[in-house]
Amino acid sequence: MIQLDKKYDVIIVGAGVAGLNCALNVSSGRSVLVICKDTPDKSDSYLAQGGICRLPDESDYQSYFDDTMRAGHYENDPAAVDAMIRGSQEIIDDLVGLGVEFARNADGSFAYTKEGGHSRPRICFHEDTTGREITTRLMAAARARRNIRIVPYVTMLDVIRDDVRCYGIVAKDGKNGRLYRLFADYTVLASGGIGGIFENSTNFRVLTGDAIAVCLKRGIPVDHVNYVQIHPTTLYTKKKGRRFLISESVRGEGAVLLDKNFKRFTDELRPRDIVTAAIREQMRKDATDHVWLDMRPIPPEEVMRHFPDIVRHCLNEGYDVLREPIPVVPSQHYFMGGIRSGVNGATALPGLYAVGETCCNGVHGKNRLASNSLLESLLFAKRAAQDINARYCPADMSAATAAEAALDLSVYANSTKLLREYKEIIRAAIDSENAACAAREGETKA
Ligand SMILES: Cc1cc2nc3c(=O)[nH]c(=O)nc-3n(C[C@H](O)[C@H](O)[C@H](O)COP(=O)(O)OP(=O)(O)OC[C@H]3O[C@@H](n4cnc5c(N)ncnc54)[C@H](O)[C@@H]3O)c2cc1C
Repeated sequence: MIQLDKKYDVIIVGAGVAGLNCALNVSSGRSVLVICKDTPDKSDSYLAQGGICRLPDESDYQSYFDDTMRAGHYENDPAAVDAMIRGSQEIIDDLVGLGVEFARNADGSFAYTKEGGHSRPRICFHEDTTGREITTRLMAAARARRNIRIVPYVTMLDVIRDDVRCYGIVAKDGKNGRLYRLFADYTVLASGGIGGIFENSTNFRVLTGDAIAVCLKRGIPVDHVNYVQIHPTTLYTKKKGRRFLISESVRGEGAVLLDKNFKRFTDELRPRDIVTAAIREQMRKDATDHVWLDMRPIPPEEVMRHFPDIVRHCLNEGYDVLREPIPVVPSQHYFMGGIRSGVNGATALPGLYAVGETCCNGVHGKNRLASNSLLESLLFAKRAAQDINARYCPADMSAATAAEAALDLSVYANSTKLLREYKEIIRAAIDSENAACAAREGETKA
């Protein structure tokens, strides 16, 4: 139950890696409320398979930087990329400190894997369930903290704001249908991506970019809303629902893509957008609705050790990856755009922060390099908490009450309708941004 009579110091919308790591890094003397739309395990963080990047040593700095920039079509913010790479060892140390187990070599050093776009192995992993391992440990640590409350089935519908700052959120309890006006000195939006608005996506269906729609509606800057990443390889199926990802590290370890005649047609280790384009072109030429991914070049013992979840899932769907290629097709996977935020997570509205996949801090540019997302979400969420700790300034409660009184509560009465409208706001923003990009390209060519 949420306490209605209580003003929280910090409210965090979202219980994925970004929300949880932010909560864990807010000073322990501050009250923190974390809400999530569904159960805490329904976050994309939980689904991450491939792993999380770590700068192995100084000799790799330049190539890691170059790989990230190349994948992002050089639209990345170089300072943000530098901060992410420089912070990667600290984040992995934090995770190990919380009990996260990464694959290790016989001498105890990290066993790194490789994915598309990476010129060298630098990805820490836990089998093919890295996200579950990390999120479970973060959740346990957050639950053990007396100052943090995590409440499931509560959906943020709006922010409470005036022209000066943000004072909290309007939220609905999915269990009892009650509407809450929740005040806080600081509000952090950590509500993940937008996959739920697409028919084919690897994301949980509840992730519909609500915070992004709220910001678009309330005039809080959102950048690159049309920068949507398609993952080249998800298991092809005619069933409805979330698409099952076949991690890029499968290709990093040697799996190959085959056309309808079981011939290779592309370099599998190029960045995601390029491999996706190659697959789509091949499907067009072959007039098929999928291509094949063959994991048999990987030694069977490595497949069983590194990818047990993928093996299990494919078997359940009728495919034995040790004996036959599996059908794969590109699907929506990640959102590079989002609520404009700096590397400390602050948005344009004082008192409001945005971290994780829901924000756009310029790290990924136009296309995310594989396994940079967990790292970026964890690091900048930690930086946001540190920023809040450092500059803590309580909100003026009389202004907060006035901002709340100015809200038209009838707007929230039908939350299903409102959330549907939010999806439309994002779709319209994507269409309009795509049209603007096409017009700019046309002008350049003319
Ligand atoms: C299948 C899959 C595999 C992936 N593999 C990798 C990988 O190997 N490496 C990597 O770096 N990245 C990977 N990613 C991407 C990465 O997992 C995500 O980008 C990252 O976990 C995002 O974390 P987050 O905390 O920002 O959001 P999420 O983990 O998605 O959490 C979002 C939270 O916000 C809550 N929420 C949303 N809307 C509301 C609302 N209106 N009110 C209240 N709560 C709300 C949700 O309930 C949820 O708790 C993968 C993604 C997928 C889908």
